[in-house]
Amino acid sequence: MKKRIGTECVQAGYTPKNGEPRVIPIIQSTTFKYDSSEEMGKLFDLEASGYFYSRLANPTSDAVAAKITALEGGTAGILTSSGQAAVFFSLFNICSAGDHIISSSAIYGGVFNLLSVTMKRMGIEVTFVDPDCTADELDSAFRDNTKVVYGETIANPALTILDIEKFAKAAHSHGVPLIIDNTFATPVNCRPIEWGADIVVHSTTKYMDGHAATVGGAIIDGGKFDWDAHADKFPGLTTPDESYHGIIYTKKFGREMAYIQKITAQLMRDFGAVPAPINSYMLNLGLESLHVRMPRHCSNAQKVAEFLEGDDRVAWVNYCGLKSSPYYELAQKYLPNGSCGVISFGVKGGRKAAEKFMGALKLAAIVTHVADARTCVLHPASSTHRQMNEEQLEKAGVPADMIRLSVGIEDAEDIIDDIRQALSAI
Ligand SMILES: *Cc1c(COP(=O)(O)O)cnc(C)c1O
Repeated sequence: MKKRIGTECVQAGYTPKNGEPRVIPIIQSTTFKYDSSEEMGKLFDLEASGYFYSRLANPTSDAVAAKITALEGGTAGILTSSGQAAVFFSLFNICSAGDHIISSSAIYGGVFNLLSVTMKRMGIEVTFVDPDCTADELDSAFRDNTKVVYGETIANPALTILDIEKFAKAAHSHGVPLIIDNTFATPVNCRPIEWGADIVVHSTTKYMDGHAATVGGAIIDGGKFDWDAHADKFPGLTTPDESYHGIIYTKKFGREMAYIQKITAQLMRDFGAVPAPINSYMLNLGLESLHVRMPRHCSNAQKVAEFLEGDDRVAWVNYCGLKSSPYYELAQKYLPNGSCGVISFGVKGGRKAAEKFMGALKLAAIVTHVADARTCVLHPASSTHRQMNEEQLEKAGVPADMIRLSVGIEDAEDIIDDIRQALSAI
């Protein structure tokens, strides 16, 4: 029986049998014991399923991955040691030197760097497109060697809302999958697979953990993309893997499992960006209250955004829950129950005034983090996006005067009081 999202947050992924621990156990073991070499050989050949070395897979992490897979409505999932690792693996699993990626230009600074610098060094090219581009503009970005389209449901920190259906349609008409970073919305507020996305990635470091305790990532496959129908584009999934005795992932594991199995067997094996079991355990504690925290983040952020919009010391406010937002309509469609707790705004007086404002805050802490239970604040142009020049900043929707406020789950009135006194200090 399909459960509702709140029940899945609390219970999915782990069902103890008679006499077993009620809580997901932390299997803090690098390795697993077998009675014969023959049995272990079958695991190495992917002939049998089971654990043998925690660089590839670990039962604690797998249980938590299964929970997030259930939340996103996917067919298979894997945890990674960070969100960056999740994004990299999700792309590199289907792209090699000579291939091309289309990405929304409104994305997380670290991923922008990954795509435009590090993956470029690997011979993979990227074209950035405006998330608000027309279908024709999007269409013209495709090349013969394009392998994937990438974007964020709610961009960090630009807070643009992606028209997922538009991007999915374009990707599918060119025979490639759409990967969506759903970090800010979380599956509580949006499930991109239901809107046509093929694969979802997360920085679980943000709302999923929710308490600024553990860095982590997740990759979830919706299991719908037909790799075999576009076999020439995805030889890694549809032709023999010589490093695994010639198995063909789509033949052996089917459309539902092939993509994640390849990540485990190749990328985890070779790169080892695996989460520690205790980190997966802590992530699960966060997930258990995700459906309770998200509505509170959203209602607090709505109150704070309305306050900011009504204060004449504030130059502009960007929050898709405000009717003044150009993304209000898209948010109503994709995020009817709320978006996230992150607001961006500018104070009158530009960069200088922004720094003064930040320095006067008492309750909101200046940290390089968002999506925490505690309210926190950041000036992206001087921190997360400092590798970008002014032109790139504008293109990414991150003007130099922008303040990113991540509204926590404290009492909204206290958060507003703090902002009010800091505005007075400018
Ligand atoms: C933070 C973040 C990442 C990177 O995740 P880490 O866990 O910090 O490695 C990727 N995408 C988005 C949208 C993020 O906010």
